[in-house]
Amino acid sequence: MRIDVLSIFPDWFVGPFTTSILGKAAADGRLDLRVHDLRAWATDRHRTVDDAPYGGGAGMVMRADVWLTACDAVWNDLPVTATAGRSEPPAGVAYVAGGTRPRTLLLTPRGRPLTQAFAAELAAEDRLVLLCGRYEGIDERVHELAATDEVSIGDYVLFGGEVAAAVVVEAVTRLVPGVVGNDASPEDESFASGMLEYPHYTRPPDVRGHGVPEVLTSGDHGAVERWRREQALARTRQQRPDLLPPAADEPREPPPPDGGHPRGGRRAG
Ligand code: SAH
Repeated sequence: MRIDVLSIFPDWFVGPFTTSILGKAAADGRLDLRVHDLRAWATDRHRTVDDAPYGGGAGMVMRADVWLTACDAVWNDLPVTATAGRSEPPAGVAYVAGGTRPRTLLLTPRGRPLTQAFAAELAAEDRLVLLCGRYEGIDERVHELAATDEVSIGDYVLFGGEVAAAVVVEAVTRLVPGVVGNDASPEDESFASGMLEYPHYTRPPDVRGHGVPEVLTSGDHGAVERWRREQALARTRQQRPDLLPPAADEPREPPPPDGGHPRGGRRAG
């Protein structure tokens, strides 16, 4: 899988993309992670990527012209020198038509909430492009013309899309078989079965007077299995009842499986 990230803080990704499992997958080529500096496509001496909002108000807005040229270049693997400051493709090159552009995710608090199901949907793509906003956000025309999806990592506001992009990359890549190659069994994990995971224990057997549930040391695999199922259900009931279907005696609308969002999953073009 190939993932391109566009940001004005490309250095921010050095840690997250070179550490541990992601770092190893990138180093040995199982994952093709590319980070691009949006400012490379700015055209003035100061490499400006933002301007004051039309209509007034606080804060600055990221410019659509710079973003759209950068997207064209990254979608088509064109060098900055051939694209910066041009609204038309260089001679002999066709920009990717809207319908065939790679899945392009614009990180924004108003986006489709990232869930395990949404991550699994994205894990099926060969290629993703992630657009990280800063300031008040990105000119609406980039949402319309470049993004195939708007993605939110939760109902809170960050300084920028970088943290959100890293969250998307981790959630998605660990679901791509053979890419990250973790040995966790994805069917067992939280959210996979619509429930939270059961609790884990390891050595030592006694920690400050707190022991380990006896069933786990009984050697009875059937009993362990049953206990884990019960625990998963109990925790979900207690901590995230919203994940469970309604009980038969309390009819209510179940939440949409993916947190349903009006623009969710939109593939423009
Ligand atoms: N004015 C915007 C917030 C801008 S925050 C608003 O009220 O919606 C600056 C940037 O941070 C955004 O452009 C976006 O890329 C990123 N960001 C902030 N919170 C986010 C979230 N919950 N999910 C995804 N991206 C987020």
